[in-house]
Amino acid sequence: MIEIKPLISVENLTVEFPVRGSAVRAVDDVSFEVGHGEIVGLVGESASGKSTLGLSLMRMVPSPGRVRARRMEFDGRDLSALDESQLRQIRGSEISLIVQDALATMNPVTTVLEQITEVVRDHEGVRSRRVLRARAAQALRDVQLPDVEINLRRYPHELSGGMQQRVAIAQGLILGPKLIIADEPTTALDVTVQAQILSLLKQIRDGGTSIIFVTHDLATVAEICDRVLVMYAGRIVESGTVAEVFAEPQHPYTQGLLASLLPLGGDPPKRLDAISGQPPRPEAWPSGCRFHPRCPLWKSKGEPEICVNEDPQPDESRTHWAACHFAGEGVR
Ligand code: SF4
Repeated sequence: MIEIKPLISVENLTVEFPVRGSAVRAVDDVSFEVGHGEIVGLVGESASGKSTLGLSLMRMVPSPGRVRARRMEFDGRDLSALDESQLRQIRGSEISLIVQDALATMNPVTTVLEQITEVVRDHEGVRSRRVLRARAAQALRDVQLPDVEINLRRYPHELSGGMQQRVAIAQGLILGPKLIIADEPTTALDVTVQAQILSLLKQIRDGGTSIIFVTHDLATVAEICDRVLVMYAGRIVESGTVAEVFAEPQHPYTQGLLASLLPLGGDPPKRLDAISGQPPRPEAWPSGCRFHPRCPLWKSKGEPEICVNEDPQPDESRTHWAACHFAGEGVR
């Protein structure tokens, strides 16, 4: 049997920032894979490290952040061994980043045509205005933006939020990347436009492109992802297929996130369960299991010392795992 290698394979990835003379880990020793044509959701609250993890794959962590990994293999190449000019070639052409605030990433004084074709000029050296225009028009059609010829002449501020996000996606897709890192791409949009963008991302996946979908919203994960990685305090605390994690969440943090969701149909719950407390800051990760100060299961079990003293290790040989000493137990 021929083994199909994942598109990206990451082992023991750490992202550190120097803070007052110490190295603070925003992402701490995470390992995961993304297959070809797969959407993997990276979900967690603010300060969980999910956006930093996404940026680290493109080696775009702001200075003086430092990315280290035992292995960071993308399509057969070691990303950590590439120099800046090699990375520039990969960014955009093979790995694209789509962010929440599309407008902030655009140049306000250049038209949509110029925004979209800049990467084609830079990466492929295309200079023909006719060819660039045809490529840009096709890219806008691919993301189902109407009135293509009119919109190519517009400036970013003349577009609605949904149209700006489609232009950003067109820009990210125009060179045919193998992997898209989509960081909260629908968070700022209203629900109707959000549904359209999610549907578009699914079509992109169906065309063979892999997507890492960074979000705080488990409902959108359920909508489009194949697998989910739940992040808490710089670590992946649960991993599995969407079906597995939603049917039987094993980590109390995932259970809390799911309990916070509004049900689809049926009667609303009497109250929405939420996770108490605030996520910790990277310079103050708690000892042992980093979730223990907020963990309802730890409290219901009489606050066992193992949770305070021992960092729970997941069984990563399983397709569905959780980093918890009492994985799979719910609060009784
Ligand atoms: S290891 Fe303990 S504190 Fe951590 S999630 Fe599991 S039960 Fe809660």
